[in-house]
Amino acid sequence: MRLVTGTDEHGEKIAASSAAAGMPSPQDHVDAVSLKFRALWASLGIEPDAFVRTTQVRHSSLVKAVLDKVWAKGDIYKGSYEGYYCVGCEEYKDETDLVPVEEEDEEGGGGRRKSFHCPLHAKACDMRSEENYFFRLSRYEGRVRELLAQGGGAGAGSSPSPSEASASTSTSSSPSDDLVPFVSPRARRNEIATWAAGGLRDFSISRAAVSWGVPLPRDPAQTVYVWFDALLGYASALLTEEEAAGIERLRVENAAEDESPSAAADAAIALLEAKGWPPSLHLVGKDILRFHAAYWPGMCLSAGLPLPGAVFAHGFLTKDGRKMGKSLGNVLDPNELVARFGADAVRFFLCAGVAFGGDGDFAAARFADVVNAALANTLGNLVNRSASLLHKFFEGGELPCSADEAGAVVDAYFSSSSSGAAPGAACRSAALAAVEASRLAYDAAALHEAAAGAVAAAAAGNALLDATAPWALLKKAAAELAAAEAAGDAAAEAAARGALRAGGASLVLALEAARLSAVALAPVVPALSERVLLSLGETRTKSGGGGGAGVGSGGGGTAPNGISWERDTRWGGLRGGTALPVPSPVFSRIELSEEEGGAAAAAAGAAAGGGGGKKKGGGGGPQQPKKQQQPKKKKEEEAAPAA
Ligand SMILES: [Zn+2]
Repeated sequence: MRLVTGTDEHGEKIAASSAAAGMPSPQDHVDAVSLKFRALWASLGIEPDAFVRTTQVRHSSLVKAVLDKVWAKGDIYKGSYEGYYCVGCEEYKDETDLVPVEEEDEEGGGGRRKSFHCPLHAKACDMRSEENYFFRLSRYEGRVRELLAQGGGAGAGSSPSPSEASASTSTSSSPSDDLVPFVSPRARRNEIATWAAGGLRDFSISRAAVSWGVPLPRDPAQTVYVWFDALLGYASALLTEEEAAGIERLRVENAAEDESPSAAADAAIALLEAKGWPPSLHLVGKDILRFHAAYWPGMCLSAGLPLPGAVFAHGFLTKDGRKMGKSLGNVLDPNELVARFGADAVRFFLCAGVAFGGDGDFAAARFADVVNAALANTLGNLVNRSASLLHKFFEGGELPCSADEAGAVVDAYFSSSSSGAAPGAACRSAALAAVEASRLAYDAAALHEAAAGAVAAAAAGNALLDATAPWALLKKAAAELAAAEAAGDAAAEAAARGALRAGGASLVLALEAARLSAVALAPVVPALSERVLLSLGETRTKSGGGGGAGVGSGGGGTAPNGISWERDTRWGGLRGGTALPVPSPVFSRIELSEEEGGAAAAAAGAAAGGGGGKKKGGGGGPQQPKKQQQPKKKKEEEAAPAA
């Protein structure tokens, strides 16, 4: 598994912001901006395997090589274009995509003027005309539309069943219905298929009046427009400077001799395929889905680049129900959030607090609720109270039995003394089912469900503790054991030891549920996951050394944190005799000030009961201490961004 990202650094808008910021050159401007992004990813614990900048030479070499090939195929031609242009989007807009607005004529006289506004930028578009080069997307329309329909659900309707949808849009069911959808989520797939049904028009790939860009190989008076620039960054990210230099040499030689215009691109594609191309998934914002789902496959088909596996569009985040904007003064600064609440909390909210693929909203009180309920009240509390009891009643904090043995011990004890329920077996099956639901959700890019499944595994541990109340059992058993030993009562001693064993087994089950939860949460909150695993005596984590087979049901690679989904989500990871380190809180509760909704958050948290983790009445188990130490800052968070 490899993660590739980067910064798109060319274009009119960027040159303009550079000038507005008073920077000496656009390059200085993008150097600073790109560094900010890399620093942000690092602070969030996101470590891309490759980070591409479109102003790098390795990138422009590939851009030119690919354009040469596409040109030679006859897929680029010169044409003129006139239409509404949004500077914010840097693109020509179809009138049907714009919002007509009637305004008073600025010249006065009571005249009315109709203008067309970009829905994204809420600004009137200019009417522009330009002589540009165009890419012949129309030539690839059939194949691209097939891709958009892949996996079913295409068509104007929003039929829930793929088979119904295909029946309404084609004469026979297509074999592509069995494939993984090329575009997700479904609502956006429908949207884009509807748009494509209107016909795929050729699009402009160059700009005449923009100098901040890669010069077009056959007409250096123009620069390459974003599509053949930024989109190729996914590929150039995989190339080294040396490889790109080789591609550029080949290209220049062939251009000089006016032959084999495709050779450089073909050499590049061979290199890319050897390095893992094509990507299995493009994760993009909903505003650029159309270009990834329709333009990009057309470009790949023309260039002979193998097609990516899928495109998933995520939504936008609003703040307190309103669109964020500099003019509104309500921009949420992710750096401030991370600095104040830590990367785990921010990552968890973005994954779990938003139905992934849809739009989400950030409000401080809800942020605190979502994060505290799952990470403090459910997982953190489970680990803390179980490990604390273990240290209190078992010498050296040693697990009295393995997780495999613990279920039978708990169920034998509790079925004889109460209703015949089997809380041990119930905990095991609930935790395993939750982890399996999490796995399926990860595969479907439903990160919110994946996170919820992982937290539900911890909730199964808390439910077990509530059902067996080991704090009471252990306290009573310890007192009875001491009394029996003093009295030399062998029968009473055996009974007390049995009760101690059952209480200990109950803690082992709870900790095993916490372990499963931490493993399943590793992609979402890697630092917290590691703290939990270390607190359970796990040594195969990143800090503990060792390597794994890789998180994800695909298996194969090594996850950076040493976790293997295959191996580590099986029940029975905790072994008897393992000594747990002295417990220290794994997660600090988020506390808000009253102005931020702290009081409301506290009230809501109490009403919701913290997802089953918080003890409410009847219990008496140890609570998380009020004052918690700040979790140790991870190395990555302090490190300088990778070059
Ligand atoms: Zn716009």
